Amino acid sequence: MAYRYWCGECGFKTAWSTESQGERQQIEHYRKQHPGLVPGGQVEVNHRSPSGAPGCLQLLGLLVLLLVLAAACHR
Ligand SMILES: [Zn+2]
Repeated sequence: MAYRYWCGECGFKTAWSTESQGERQQIEHYRKQHPGLVPGGQVEVNHRSPSGAPGCLQLLGLLVLLLVLAAACHR
């Protein structure tokens, strides 16, 4: 899973990375841009892995298979 942290004070968001890496980026951003503030904002979670193409292709393959089966049944 990939995590992206959104700053609660400005439009900043970290790059997609692991939870701990994103958290570190967020804290670093707050330290530089919003000194004295407690890091806040929200976390966006991507349930696919950052290289999520294989899972997506598998789903597409399954969909094609279902369509082929449906077409075969209607013949
Ligand atoms: Zn900010």
